[in-house]
Formats: sequence, structure tokens, C-alpha cells
Amino acid sequence: FKEYARNLIAKSNVTWGDIGGLDEVKVLMMETIVISALQRPKAIQPWKGILLFGPPGTGKTLLASAAAGSLNATFFNVKASNVLSKYFGESSKIITAIYDVARKNAPSIVFIDEIDALTTKRSNDTSEASRRMLSTLLTELEGFYDKGSDVLVLTLAATNTPWDLDEAVLSRFPKRIYVPLPDKKATREIIKINTKGLDISKLDLDAIAEESVRRLYSGRDIRNLCQEAIWNMIREENRDLYKLANLPFHELNKRSLRTRPLEMR
Ligand code: ATP
Repeated sequence: FKEYARNLIAKSNVTWGDIGGLDEVKVLMMETIVISALQRPKAIQPWKGILLFGPPGTGKTLLASAAAGSLNATFFNVKASNVLSKYFGESSKIITAIYDVARKNAPSIVFIDEIDALTTKRSNDTSEASRRMLSTLLTELEGFYDKGSDVLVLTLAATNTPWDLDEAVLSRFPKRIYVPLPDKKATREIIKINTKGLDISKLDLDAIAEESVRRLYSGRDIRNLCQEAIWNMIREENRDLYKLANLPFHELNKRSLRTRPLEMR
């Protein structure tokens, strides 16, 4: 189990600057994590866990990773459904192992993605395994500061469906941060981050941002959009290759910057 836990350690080379928009969220996380956890002011109880919630692909994993990066902490990227499906009956032992390894490699941030997979208000739907896994997780969360430990292990959890979480979970995560879809300014920033080093001066960023917000694109959608656009640039630059391969160069996806990601959904 410890081996599995060690394999969940992910590199966190993300910085706050790699995340477009979300200014308030970044400041909130910085305050909560760096001030309340690192400095541990006596007047305030540090948060044991923070819940990030919002639509898919809006940067929750990125935020957790940047938080770990800013603390130089060991980052555990745990997808609850993966642990459950792989170690069904023994998933609670994985949780214990993760926190053991996290304490040994502190400071650590344990990021539990899809925490809703472990809990649902309709308790009949919850399997015994996920219930046990959840109760171990909550015990780990509870136990940490009570022991007055100096070791720093913070838990960040994420969900797209906060309304599915039951009170037992919500009460353990009194600090909840909403991670919204990007607005126009954030969209422009995300495009810039995902096209670093490329000449995008010909792009009408305002028009793209407006369209993207109208279509409710997430950060992930915008990244995909940029990938498509970059591919188109690469195709243009490699026109000669088509001649060599005796293939016609099709003016494919001229409009892909606008339409592709939606079609892919
Ligand atoms: P899910 O809820 O589906 O797990 P998530 O909210 O955790 O998604 P991420 O995994 O953090 O989303 O984002 C997916 C990818 O989309 C990132 O790796 C990044 O490339 C891009 N992305 C999303 N949001 C942003 C953002 N605000 N700034 C820059 N890139 C972003």
C-alpha cells in the first residue's frame, strides 16, 4: 500500500502564474495555505482541509498543484474513483498509507479529486468500501491537528457536484472555495499561457474570449482550442511535407479556433 501511495506523488511544477484568471481564488488559497498553515498564527485554528468546487476543467487540480509548489510540499494527486476501483475492499488502507507517507515527507498536500465518489446523500447508493474509505479519510483529517503535530499535511478536496456531499464531509471542510468558469479577462490570460512563445498577434483575443465565454468554455476547453490553433499553425509551416508525401494540403479546420472544441464535446 505504501508503494501505491508513493506512486501517487506527483511533480508540482505549476506556479500561481501558470493559472489564468481566478485572482480571488488564488489569493484566498495563498492566504489560507501559506498564512494559516505555514505561519500558524496562534489566534486562529488552521484549516484542516479545503474544498474546491466548480465545473469540470476549471483548474482545481492546477490550483492544488500550485499550492504544493508554493510550499515546496510533497504533492499527492489522488483520484478517489481510481483508488476505489483498483483497491475496492482495501481502499481505506490506501488512505492510511497515503497519510503515513505524507507525514514522513511533510510538508505535504494531499489532493483528493472527485471526493463525491466516496459519498452521496442518498446513502443507499454508497458502497461499503467507499463508506469505509471516507471514514478513514475523515479520521485522518480530524486527527492531524488534534495531536498537536508540527508536521504539516494539508488536504485539498475537489468536486464538480458539491450538492452530492453529505454533512459528514461538508462539516470537515468548512473552508470551501468556488472555482468558476473563466470570464473574458481570464480567457485571454489562459490563451496567453497556453500559447507561450508563439506569435499570436494576429488573433483577435477579444472576439475569441467573447465567443468562448458565450459558449461556457472551461479552462480545459480553452487549452484544447489553443492546441487546435497551434496544430493549424504547424500544418501551415509544413506545407512542403505534403508535397513530399504526395498528399494534397487541405485547408482543414480553418474555423477550428471557433468550432472544434464544441464539436468534440
Ligand atoms: P476536473 O474537475 O475535471 O478534475 P479541474 O478543475 O481539476 O478538472 P484541471 O485538471 O486543473 O481542472 O484543468 C485541466 C487543464 O485545463 C489544465 O491542465 C490546464 O491545461 C487547463 N486549465 C484549466 N483551467 C486553467 C486556468 N485557469 N489557467 C490555465 N490553464 C487552465
